[in-house]
Amino acid sequence: MSSENKNNTHQQRFAALQQRFIETLPSKTAMMEEQYQKLVAGEQAAFTELIAISHQLSGSCGTFRLTELGQQAREVEQLALSMQREQRLEAARLSELEKAVAAFHHHMQQVLAAGDAVSESQAITRLAPEQIWLLLDNNDLTAELTNQLSAFGYPLQMFTSYQDCLESLASQSPALLYCSASLDDGVSQLFEQQQLLKVMQDRQIPWMLFSDQDNFSLRVQAARYQAQAFYVSPLDVPAMLGRISDLAEQQAESGGRVCVMDDDALLAEHFALTLQTAGIDCQLLTSPESLIADILQYQPDLVLLDLHMPTYSGPELAGVIRQYDTLKSLPIVYLSAEQDKAQQLKAMAFGADDFLTKPISDAQLVKAVQVRLRRSRELKNLIVKDSLTGLMKHSAIKEAAVLEYQRAKRSGNTFCLVMVDIDHFKSVNDRFGHAMGDLVITTLATLLQKRIRRTDKAGRYGGEEFLLVLPECASEDALQLMQSILDSFNTIVFHSSAQDFACSFSAGIACSSQGFDDAESMLAQADEKLYQAKSLGRNRVLA
Ligand code: GH3
Ligand code: MG
Ligand code: MG
Repeated sequence: MSSENKNNTHQQRFAALQQRFIETLPSKTAMMEEQYQKLVAGEQAAFTELIAISHQLSGSCGTFRLTELGQQAREVEQLALSMQREQRLEAARLSELEKAVAAFHHHMQQVLAAGDAVSESQAITRLAPEQIWLLLDNNDLTAELTNQLSAFGYPLQMFTSYQDCLESLASQSPALLYCSASLDDGVSQLFEQQQLLKVMQDRQIPWMLFSDQDNFSLRVQAARYQAQAFYVSPLDVPAMLGRISDLAEQQAESGGRVCVMDDDALLAEHFALTLQTAGIDCQLLTSPESLIADILQYQPDLVLLDLHMPTYSGPELAGVIRQYDTLKSLPIVYLSAEQDKAQQLKAMAFGADDFLTKPISDAQLVKAVQVRLRRSRELKNLIVKDSLTGLMKHSAIKEAAVLEYQRAKRSGNTFCLVMVDIDHFKSVNDRFGHAMGDLVITTLATLLQKRIRRTDKAGRYGGEEFLLVLPECASEDALQLMQSILDSFNTIVFHSSAQDFACSFSAGIACSSQGFDDAESMLAQADEKLYQAKSLGRNRVLA
């Protein structure tokens, strides 16, 4: 499905949800009025029900873009709350309440009459841009970047004027814009291009600045417009590639998995749809009794929990989640119309991590969830990721190999393990220094990560040794892939003060179709093939 079509269907689903919500308003208003009448008849107990329904409406109306109606519901709620505290039913107060309920009713009818006033969702649609745009007039640099970036498989688009770039931004978005501070021998300056800068800001386009000179005011300008990096001529290409791969990884990971639980089914559906539109996987939890089973099965990175629900409250459910060892660090965020700070704090004491208040705009919800997902991912990464390369650590990649072995055994699918080792790496360290050695390691790590599929896994197995797990992959496919990665690695040029140099690696492949008793012996086979590749002269892949 094209992204435009997808967008249309999302918009239609948002509109349909809003319509269904509007259709529930008359019966909810009638319930509100019924409780009010009970109060008039002296039934104090009706407060609880009236507060519950107006509370729910004050949270949900705003989400469906009926902001004013939501405020009127909140007025009813606030009034009912303070009257309940007073524990008396004074005529003057009752008439205030009557007015508030009537105002809600009146506005509700206007909403119904408007019928087609369905507005556009404000949800942020995540584009899936892959392209890197180069906005440069330095031909040598453009040629070098083109050469090296293509080795990583990034599609590139070149621009030589700010205006051309601005025009293309009208219809497309790059994954990254790499931009020169001035063009045409200094005649046009980036920081004078107000329109371009505004579009970059509004669309939150990740960008990096390249400048012939390093000066503080330029750096401040770059910071003001949130440049991801500032590079001064001559450009250190591998360092820049490292930053690009960090960014690419951040973008690839901007998804994540979220569970939503809310007793208001339409609201929950709206939240789920909003998050899905932003590329976040989302599952609704509908039954408190199967909450734990659902969470264990779906493995979310975050749970959004309503606070006030009819059978069990949010804090009770958060408490239950925390009883399970494996769910102790699962972030739980309340999403509630509760505005009382004391109530919020009390709810947090039950093991939740954060509080978001309804009504919340779609954009705010997405942003809030993304920030929390990123933080939880960072913590997870600290545990399983190697700090130099960002790939999985030895233990994690080995575990992945064992898991894949078991999975393939059950399913009968073919998978491959690949052991990769940089050639003559000791001499890189000796000749160009340890820091340069590190750069070679991270560059290869980036290349591997970039060229494998999403379902494949890459880990740093040892110092300059890597292990790849390639599910559903035959031996010939693995061979072809590794040969192509090796060709690319050969073309990457590293710059040192002494001289420019390139590197190679050797790789050994083991394929499950060869029949192994366990993952260990398959690893040993990949190692054996790697050893053979080394003894045949290195810079090659053997299966
Ligand atoms: P071969 O082609 O046979 O693989 O030769 P080699 O020199 O690459 O192999 P060897 O395993 O003998 O040397 C690997 C070197 O890598 C030894 C170690 O000092 C270095 N090394 C290990 N980890 C790191 C690291 O994180 N950074 C740097 N810069 N060097 C590392
Ligand atoms: Mg080596
Ligand atoms: Mg080695």
